[in-house]
Amino acid sequence: MLINGKRALAYVVTIDEIKPIEGYDRVEYARTNGWWCIISKNDNIQVGDKCVYFEVDSKVNSEDARFAFLDKRHYKIKTQKMCKVVSQGLLMPLKLFPELGDAEVNTDVTDILKVTYSADDDNVRKNKPNPDAKYNSMAARHKNIFKQKWARWLMKRAWGRKLMFAIFGRKKDNPRGWPTHFQYIHKTDEERCENIPWVLKIEDPLVVTEKLDGTSCTYILERKGKNKFEFYVLSRNIRQQDENQKTYHDHNIYWDLAFKYDIENKMRRYMMEYPHLNYVCIQGEGVGTVQGNPLKLDEDDLYVFNFITSDAGRYPSTTAKVIINTMFGMKFVPILDENYRMPDNMEEFKQYADGPSAVNPKVKREGVVIRNPKDDFSFKNVSREYLLKHGG
Ligand code: ATP
Ligand code: MN
Repeated sequence: MLINGKRALAYVVTIDEIKPIEGYDRVEYARTNGWWCIISKNDNIQVGDKCVYFEVDSKVNSEDARFAFLDKRHYKIKTQKMCKVVSQGLLMPLKLFPELGDAEVNTDVTDILKVTYSADDDNVRKNKPNPDAKYNSMAARHKNIFKQKWARWLMKRAWGRKLMFAIFGRKKDNPRGWPTHFQYIHKTDEERCENIPWVLKIEDPLVVTEKLDGTSCTYILERKGKNKFEFYVLSRNIRQQDENQKTYHDHNIYWDLAFKYDIENKMRRYMMEYPHLNYVCIQGEGVGTVQGNPLKLDEDDLYVFNFITSDAGRYPSTTAKVIINTMFGMKFVPILDENYRMPDNMEEFKQYADGPSAVNPKVKREGVVIRNPKDDFSFKNVSREYLLKHGG
């Protein structure tokens, strides 16, 4: 769940509903918000009780004896089929965590319980850039120097690290952070529908796009003078300085796609045509050789989901698709429905996420992203079938 703009992997909830599971006496099926998960009767959890909920994708602290029962599962919380039902997440009574006191519902306890992402690369990708990363990058370029005693002595001290960076550091060691001066450009995050079950009550017609499982790519062209521009290539959390910058993939897919579609030049032409614009931005999902290539594509590709300009902000998906297809000659994420009405129960809505991908119908889709054109509010519905197959 997103709490204060950050994904909380573990947080305080109350139990909304409990059902027996036919044929299994020692467990029950419990619901918090829109999540269903198996609980043990030994925990004696009742409706209304406060619990800590660990979302799928989390890894609990292996050194904490309270999680010893997850040893076989390598402390990872995943979507699974157990006792003939789908179980997502882990619920444990709040009482088991005296260090949390009587924490309020929706308190983020991720850090205090030392919960991390189960996938190592997610810990790199989804968290803030590590402020020490630039020192590691600098040291990697000057292995011999940084092995020496005096260098190691300096690097143990904050002022010493600064001094060494002033001498040996380079701009490219310090990938610049996400730019914050563009009013309408934000990091791409979508809340899970299970955390906001009130979305079932939305009555407006909604736009549904397919959620593709790749990596988030953002391209911006900013006007710096009459015919001067600055081009930004960004991954989920940081700016990619150039095509040689190391990523957690084996190549810089963000820049590769910028070249493949000649994005900088196309944006330049667009800005020349609309001289009142201060910036234009394209956000999309880079797919192919990343995340294990679940779409089974032959080469990397970019599917755009946001088109943003300095004067109008984010364009509605249907208009954005036309601009991206015709003026940029690029692909837009599949639009599955332009007039979708929310069903009245979560189970039906969850089943809606399951289905073949429109990009490659031979594989399952990751899910859908739903957007209300009226207020631009959006959220995701990730397919449980997809999670069972791909983990997570
Ligand atoms: P990650 O992509 O970093 O592994 P995630 O998919 O769980 O994590 P969320 O923030 O939960 O990330 O979902 C939003 C992400 O989904 C966006 O960052 C975007 O990269 C991606 N995405 C894929 N398809 C779409 C789409 N059709 N509309 C909007 N976002 C999409
Ligand atoms: Mn994703």
